[in-house]
Amino acid sequence: MKIADVVIDRAVRGLDRTLSYELPSSVHNVEIGSRVRVPLGRSEAVGIVLRIMDGVSSDRALKAIIGPVDSIPVLGPEMIELAQWMAEYYVCYLPQAIRAMIPRGIRRGVAPATQWHYRVAKMRQGRSSAKQVLWEWLAENPMATILEIRDGVGDKASTALRALVAEGTVVSEHYDGPRPVQFNPRQYPLNADQTAVIQDILSGSRTGWLLEGVTGSGKTEVYLEVIEKVLRDGGQALVLIPEIALTPQTLQRFSDRFTHGVYVWHSGLTDRQRVRIWFNIRQPVPAVVIAARSGVFLPFSRLRLVVLDEEQETTYKQEEHPSYHAREVALWRAERVGATVIVGSATPSVESGWAARQGQFGWLRLPSRVLERKLPEVRVVDMREELAGGNRGIFSRALVEAMDEALGHGQQVLLFLNRRGFSTFILCRSCGQTLDCPHCAVTLTYHQDHDRLICHYCDYIGAVPTKCPHCQSQKIRHFGAGTERVVLEVQKTWPDARVVRADRDSLKTRDSYAQLYETFLGGGADVLVGTQMIAKGMDFPRVSVVGIVAADMSLHFPDFRSGERTFQLLVQAAGRAGRGDVPGRVVVQTYNPEHYAIQHAVTQNVDRFFEEELHLRHELRYPPYGVLWLLEVEDPARERAATRAGEVAAYVTELMADIQAQVMGPTPAPLLKIRNHFRYHILVKVDVLNQQAAAGLLVGVRDNFPDVRITTDPYMML
Ligand code: ADP
Ligand code: ZN
Ligand code: ZN
Repeated sequence: MKIADVVIDRAVRGLDRTLSYELPSSVHNVEIGSRVRVPLGRSEAVGIVLRIMDGVSSDRALKAIIGPVDSIPVLGPEMIELAQWMAEYYVCYLPQAIRAMIPRGIRRGVAPATQWHYRVAKMRQGRSSAKQVLWEWLAENPMATILEIRDGVGDKASTALRALVAEGTVVSEHYDGPRPVQFNPRQYPLNADQTAVIQDILSGSRTGWLLEGVTGSGKTEVYLEVIEKVLRDGGQALVLIPEIALTPQTLQRFSDRFTHGVYVWHSGLTDRQRVRIWFNIRQPVPAVVIAARSGVFLPFSRLRLVVLDEEQETTYKQEEHPSYHAREVALWRAERVGATVIVGSATPSVESGWAARQGQFGWLRLPSRVLERKLPEVRVVDMREELAGGNRGIFSRALVEAMDEALGHGQQVLLFLNRRGFSTFILCRSCGQTLDCPHCAVTLTYHQDHDRLICHYCDYIGAVPTKCPHCQSQKIRHFGAGTERVVLEVQKTWPDARVVRADRDSLKTRDSYAQLYETFLGGGADVLVGTQMIAKGMDFPRVSVVGIVAADMSLHFPDFRSGERTFQLLVQAAGRAGRGDVPGRVVVQTYNPEHYAIQHAVTQNVDRFFEEELHLRHELRYPPYGVLWLLEVEDPARERAATRAGEVAAYVTELMADIQAQVMGPTPAPLLKIRNHFRYHILVKVDVLNQQAAAGLLVGVRDNFPDVRITTDPYMML
């Protein structure tokens, strides 16, 4: 008789144990990783098979598995092991880890999307008409999809295609499997630095590599080259990028280099499209997947390489359960299957920079921009002096001068401000009260676009009052500038300049982003004002000036990563200047010109920044020297939240006494109230050597206080 251990697909306290079932010989198609229907109590549930063993018909009468849900297992043994590791490492329930790995379409048993491909069927002799052009193109690009045809021949190709199908010289076929990759040559020779770096990676001497290179130093070219090798050897590669919609150029470069076999995995796909990619990747054929964070769970059968581009980006970290980091999961998988991980950045995360310095990662550097392009000159402006000098505007004199010059020469300008809306708070000058969200303990932001007050935490929308709701005074004033205000100021100062805005309000869809990008790239605008969403990865050769309107904004976050984030943001933003032939200039406006993160960003000195940052982290035992967990308690009643948090803190303190854990709090969260819930925080910090022991103990908190939210290595501490 066979016995199967099954975990029920429900993240409920008490159910996070594996239950054993009999696997009757009459039930077929059940393997490790299969979803199965099982009896549970008086009803039925779906679970995943973790183990199958030979059992003896024992005294314990086991209930029997009813049958499989799908015809094949949804997870391989590797992924089951990964889920178990995640549940331990990230202190979550096993079903939560498993759920993160199975796309919704698979869970629901959706059929894969069908795809039509076109190929030539008969010779065709014609003059150079649209039809003939398309026929010849198809002769060279067999099995093209309609999207690829439009890409290759133009949007008008659809009409010609229909005509060719009608005359029988082209046929359409329905084929859903993976297509063989075709390789297209590189446009230029690699430089010496690139060649050396590629050789190191291909030597296979390491699992993990940090590729550190300033923006424009040719990192993407290195990825492409290594991927080509992987594909030629029959392997599969995963390229993780922080925000797919924001990097149309990156996608283009992959599809220019490899025809077929490039899959893009993102949230805009339908379930059926995802299911098709998911099935294709399971087949042992060469393929590249370009994906956001969740792509790290795709069922590769021949994974040889994972690239994390802009690896310092916080989008690689999930804050909800399971609170995983894509880099950590990628390394786990790579070690397991003997693949390589390259994390790349101009400004590596402190974790990766440290790993490279420790020798855990191989450390590769591309020290200069390709074609000897110069790094921009960066100038810091002390806004306190501006104020003292009588300038009360949001632009310093230095920035105005630089912009004057750039705009005068027909060059473009990028302005960064990490705050959307027009003004950031409204204050009554009579009673001194601010206008707060009725549901959250935060001020409302005025949005001129809609002439409304909006809460950035719960999306509450309110009308703009003419009188103070507290004292009826009419002396209410707007303070603080957001991106809308910056646009207005640019328009006032340079009436002829064409200004566009890029933030979450102005760019709601993927298309609107691509459109804005094309407009700016094509010279259809002179100034682009945006939040940090435009700070990375984009290449605008005509930008000669970058202005950081308020560099302090990220510095004042109550978070040990605020220095790191400020440094990265500034260096990345500065990297947007001078990408073409015009040398770039960067103006950084700040009230804290002495801060080490700003100082080292100005000199673009990553090493010096690391030295100082690592020293600080070491002193305070913050990551990478320590590990943190954030325990969050929330309740509509403030008293109850505080009391409960007190209980949790007391429990944790006692629980973790033996491993010298530092338990901080409970303290009211920096954002005390969100959506009518009061929030209290407890931080637990242990030495990195005690990570495993601490995670093991925290399972006790998870099981005894199921209402507490546990986040491993929190990136959001508000
Ligand atoms: P990064 O990813 O480090 O920002 P890229 O790989 O995007 O750098 O390279 C920057 C630009 O330089 C791109 O337009 C790329 O096509 C080009 N490039 C990369 N390597 C070379 C090279 N060896 N010779 C000439 N141009 C190159
Ligand atoms: Zn008032
Ligand atoms: Zn709110």
